[in-house]
Amino acid sequence: MAFRTIIEPFKIKSVEPIKWTTREERERHLRAAYYNLFLLPAEHVLIDLLTDSGTGAMSSRQWAAMMEGDESYAGSPSFERFRRAVEGVFGYQHVIPTHQGRAAERILFSVMCKKGDVVPNNSHFDTTRANVESTGAQAVDLPAPEGLEPSNPCPFKGNMDAKALERLIERVGREQVPLVMLTITNNSGGGQPVSMENARAVSAICRKHHVPLYFDACRFAENAYLVKLREKGYEAKTPKSIAQEMFALGDGCTMSAKKDGLANIGGFLCTNDDALAQREKNLLILTEGYPTYGGLAGRDLEAIAVGLEEVLDEDYLRYRIVSTAYLGQHVSDAGVPIVQPPGGHAIYIDARAFLPHIPTREFPGVALAAELYLEGGIRSAEIGTLMFGEAAKMDLVRLAIPRRVYTQSHIDYVIEVIIEVWKRRQRIRGLKLTYEAPVLRHFTARLAPL
Ligand SMILES: *Cc1c(COP(=O)(O)O)cnc(C)c1O
Repeated sequence: MAFRTIIEPFKIKSVEPIKWTTREERERHLRAAYYNLFLLPAEHVLIDLLTDSGTGAMSSRQWAAMMEGDESYAGSPSFERFRRAVEGVFGYQHVIPTHQGRAAERILFSVMCKKGDVVPNNSHFDTTRANVESTGAQAVDLPAPEGLEPSNPCPFKGNMDAKALERLIERVGREQVPLVMLTITNNSGGGQPVSMENARAVSAICRKHHVPLYFDACRFAENAYLVKLREKGYEAKTPKSIAQEMFALGDGCTMSAKKDGLANIGGFLCTNDDALAQREKNLLILTEGYPTYGGLAGRDLEAIAVGLEEVLDEDYLRYRIVSTAYLGQHVSDAGVPIVQPPGGHAIYIDARAFLPHIPTREFPGVALAAELYLEGGIRSAEIGTLMFGEAAKMDLVRLAIPRRVYTQSHIDYVIEVIIEVWKRRQRIRGLKLTYEAPVLRHFTARLAPL
């Protein structure tokens, strides 16, 4: 019989204590961090939902595989196991390891882009945008219109606006578009999936105009499982075969193994283009390392190889998607405005709707994140005006769920804290900036309450 309760599909072998703080202590810590949770020491956090990147728990099989790590400089058998694991899912000819996703991005864009080029994406992640722009190219977001409406429950809000892509390529000319990127799932747009139908449409446009299509594949397994749940014709397919079908529509990918690689560090770059792979490896040697380790230890390559297998396990993915939705459902039932439907790795609270009395220039997302910390020691991340400046189309607070780390009772506690803050939302004030860096300012910004 099928039970209603989806339990964590693992038992716990090693535990790490978390520490309570008093409200007074949290007020002091928050002031010392200039109201920017990136500046807060992690030991002052009770439940850390800042990011799902590199924060997952490894399995006993991954830890065992790490002991098999071979640290040879060149030609390590660990690289061979890693290469086979990546190839088995992604299917691309060349697999280039990097220390994390942004290193793959930097190499890809340095080799493919030049000043004046245009790189379309459903939504660029912050490091992706910064790496495109640092080559002098322009990063253009083309989300499907429903992706910008937080309460619209459309199942594939991560989709790219395919018509807008076609118009853009025709307007600027194929020579100015070195590649198109499709981010699965769409992180900046609420962790929402891209449908196979949309990937197919984007791929057809790219092929017609002879523009290569690359996936930003960070959460490919979550995307595959959401396709299985939500797209007609995929109910009976395995997440692995869905992922393989999607990757076959492209020419390569960038990947952060800190997400769906279930590892704490690592990434890779794939391509089917031989000449490009050679140039990428030359650049890799300059800044990351030799092509059979790319800035990683042999043991990291082993952890990723096992992680890529475990992340496609259906019991894991069911638990992952259901437990994220559980958080979303409970706060949303209490009236809290969230991006609907819940995405794969995170719940995004719509801070503009939560705090309509705080204008966007006073950072409603930062104000809400600060309150969640003060109330219950929960760390979240603003994705809005502080991160993107005036270009921000939404002000969201992201509660990212680390993989295999927290249990349902941790999440029940998070729900209670959010609902407490919701009840006294009228009393929350905005903030002003007192320091900002010229790029990626959200990491180091300082703020003060108004
Ligand atoms: C995390 C992430 C990246 C960058 O990866 P890092 O490993 O953090 O460098 C790129 N794109 C998306 C969509 C991401 O979520």
